[in-house]
Amino acid sequence: MTPTPPSCAVDTQNLATPSEVRHDWTLDEIEALFALPFNDLLFRAQRVHRAHFDPNAVQVSTLLSIKTGACPEDCKYCPQSGHYNTGLGREKLLEIEKVVAQARAAKDAGASRFCMGAAWKSPRERDLKVVLEMVRRVKALGLETCMTLGMVDGEQAGRLAEAGLDYYNHNLDTSPEYYGEIITTRSYADRLATLGHVRDAGMKVCAGGILGMGEAPRDRAALLQQLARLEPHPESVPINMLVKVPGTPLEAVDDLDPIEFIRAIAVARILMPKSHVRLSAGREQMDDSTQALAFLAGANSIFYGERLLTTANPQAERDRVLFTRLGLHPERRDTCVDDDQVQTSVAARVEADLARQAARKAAARASELTYDASQS
Ligand code: SF4
Repeated sequence: MTPTPPSCAVDTQNLATPSEVRHDWTLDEIEALFALPFNDLLFRAQRVHRAHFDPNAVQVSTLLSIKTGACPEDCKYCPQSGHYNTGLGREKLLEIEKVVAQARAAKDAGASRFCMGAAWKSPRERDLKVVLEMVRRVKALGLETCMTLGMVDGEQAGRLAEAGLDYYNHNLDTSPEYYGEIITTRSYADRLATLGHVRDAGMKVCAGGILGMGEAPRDRAALLQQLARLEPHPESVPINMLVKVPGTPLEAVDDLDPIEFIRAIAVARILMPKSHVRLSAGREQMDDSTQALAFLAGANSIFYGERLLTTANPQAERDRVLFTRLGLHPERRDTCVDDDQVQTSVAARVEADLARQAARKAAARASELTYDASQS
């Protein structure tokens, strides 16, 4: 008997669905996206991506840790938790002048946004006063400001916004169902409450999660569902691959298949069409092909040439080379409707780096081809 040839029917419904902004995705719908053939999923993510963004532009940001280690929370992935011995040094809150000096240096180097992170459960009043002054001083330099300080209530969020804070980062980490396996010192509802306060105060939201923490596929779908339920969607959605830091409870968890990671990026792009999807922690462990697939799947934001709080971030040189190989360029937009404001001067710096790199290569090639009579 002749075997029936595989069906060549194209799933036109799935492939042709326009990129609408929705907040009511069901878990079944999201799992169906994850289950699409890989090529179909990436095709669909690309269609959505191209409807809202320059497909070859990647936003770049920088990040400074203003208070490192000894955090009272017990996030099992985090080397900054005081519950685990990871050998990470403890640092007090940086002095305002040092932060301002770093911000000024970043601005001189071309940055237009300065992101600051502190390892706290939530800021205490005396720390908040210092942080508010940091925001004012950094803002006064003409920089955009972004912070991650743990949980904040409505009053704190209002004061941060009033001081000039533009963005607040607060990740959901994983699904509501798996959350208790990762963190016990705060609840999912606490996280959502902080995000609500940030939004109510008028700040922009940066919220995402971490994959590869031993969660089930359904947890990845549920995390993305939670993010997509936020109204409006977060302006930035960092999708992190777990960095297995020795000394943390997750140091020996099984690796996540990179293809599954790429699927999650693609689904995030489809669910949150207008958000910047940030390829965040874990890039150091990814090979260039995986990163290229992530950009193809709709990731369009990275941290550039800086250390990502306490885990290594690929060096600027590697990023420059990758940008060149992939024909990517830093995002450059002076105005955005509802996304991250683009760091125009950082973009200029990266472009200048790329130009210098090309010039160096050209010069090296020219010298190889030039006959040097003095050596003969
Ligand atoms: S992820 Fe944040 S809240 Fe959790 S332990 Fe680390 S610094 Fe603390």
